[in-house]
Amino acid sequence: MSLLAEFTPVYFMSPWKPFLVVAVFIAWAWLVGTKLDKDAAKFHLDPVKWNSYQLGGAGVALAAMLFIPNFYISFPIGSVILFTTTMIYWKYRNEEVPESEQFQLKADGLRARAEQRKAMKAGRSVTLKFDGAKGEAAVPDKTDEKLLAYLDAETLLSSALVNRATRLEIRLNSKGCQGVYFVDGIPSKTDVLSPKDGVAAVGFLKELAGTDPTDVRKKQHGTFSVIHEGGRTPVDLTASGSTGSHSLKIEFDREKQIRIPLDSTGLLPKQIEALEVYHQDVHRHGVILVGSAKQQGLTATCYSLVHSHDSYLNNIVALEKENTETLEGVTHQIVGEDGGDYPTNLQTVLRRDPEIILSADMDDGASASLAAKSGLDGPLIFVGMNASSFRDLVSKWASLVGEPREAFNSLQAITYQRLVRKVCENCRIAYKPSDDLAKQGLPIKEVEQLYRAGGQLQVKNKVVECPVCKGSGYLGQIGVFETMFLTKDIRKQLIAGDLKAAMALARREQKLVRLQDAGWAKVAAGTTTLEEFGRVAKSGQAKKKAKKK
Ligand SMILES: [Zn+2]
Repeated sequence: MSLLAEFTPVYFMSPWKPFLVVAVFIAWAWLVGTKLDKDAAKFHLDPVKWNSYQLGGAGVALAAMLFIPNFYISFPIGSVILFTTTMIYWKYRNEEVPESEQFQLKADGLRARAEQRKAMKAGRSVTLKFDGAKGEAAVPDKTDEKLLAYLDAETLLSSALVNRATRLEIRLNSKGCQGVYFVDGIPSKTDVLSPKDGVAAVGFLKELAGTDPTDVRKKQHGTFSVIHEGGRTPVDLTASGSTGSHSLKIEFDREKQIRIPLDSTGLLPKQIEALEVYHQDVHRHGVILVGSAKQQGLTATCYSLVHSHDSYLNNIVALEKENTETLEGVTHQIVGEDGGDYPTNLQTVLRRDPEIILSADMDDGASASLAAKSGLDGPLIFVGMNASSFRDLVSKWASLVGEPREAFNSLQAITYQRLVRKVCENCRIAYKPSDDLAKQGLPIKEVEQLYRAGGQLQVKNKVVECPVCKGSGYLGQIGVFETMFLTKDIRKQLIAGDLKAAMALARREQKLVRLQDAGWAKVAAGTTTLEEFGRVAKSGQAKKKAKKK
């Protein structure tokens, strides 16, 4: 006699027991069939695979309910098994989707939502909460005039937050107050406030960050957090002013933007390998030029290059005009903090004899000379400079140092970067590269398919906006790096002032990665699109042309 034959009759004899079992299965089927299947489709989480897991789990659950003799044991165990796959799916999808799309049962989220509802009930439309220098800012009462400043500050910040902007620049003058926020480097404008409302809103934000709202001239820095639908976002606020205008630079989640591991900066494996040569004691000397245009990821790259060196075995000093983040194990020195100008400060750092120096925001001849002169037996110095192109970076360095032999004798390597937007993997569209591309000299034979940006998804006969990138088709940015590593012969060409010959030689010696090649590698890997790389490469050229005029 099988267990089934022995126990099933007892099991099904009571009328309410099977009813309970059926009820649990109906609840499960509703959840999986109407919610989870669509959710998995929306986020490309392989709905067919997950549905079969769910069905498998249900089979085991049913078996448990049928075969475990005692109903009071079999029913709870069966129910737990039934919903276990659902819970596993929940955990899995939360790790795969952006933070704002995660399902959370945390008290924090619920409390925020409850408070938001309460606020709406009272006739206000407060959607953000602020956690500032003096703790959480209370929402002013309906009759309190301060509520307007609160709501106007929200107006300035909300669209930036919803669209996951990294930076917001607010400008206030006699004409009014408006913000420009940047999503993956692309600017968008906020609503305009009247000058009077702008003064109040800017004052509110400055006070929140713990800076002095009455001081409109001095450059001030502070921090606060915004609690919104997508979670909690740390904010760095820098206030500055000039005659007639006042500006706030607001950076969202700055640490995340700046602290990037070297292998996530966008450097290609062979470029990283070449840079890692300078980790060895014998090669840890000379200057490495690191450049980009403004707002193109220079600070992040400088930090990750410096931090790729062991900060416990090496004495590392970072000299900066402005401190952005504190790196563990690195001594940060801010120019002017203990007096003196850039070259004086660099001199002090050099005297301390560190193994590695980051000399950021360098733009004067005396400092460049000092760095160059410390030579090939001095420390390894990463010199960070803004420049409009690779060529511009090299000629800027040469003209700052002045003497060509001095400029290039101790120069080890040059890296120049541009940022491209990464294509959203949730909605990108694959296509076969056409022969036209081959005619343009692209090695299309290397790849099966390329991707273009989508922004939309088809979920069960319905076209919806992609929830991950909010319809833009792109998500985040990554660097495309042009690099050159100098040998004796390449140096000779540079000292002779012939960059073109130096680059041609570097190419032959495989010491050069051109921007086009680095960009193509990102396109071929499906990280970005041809359109995006074309846009970025073109904007660099346009700047160059404009400069020549
Ligand atoms: Zn998308």
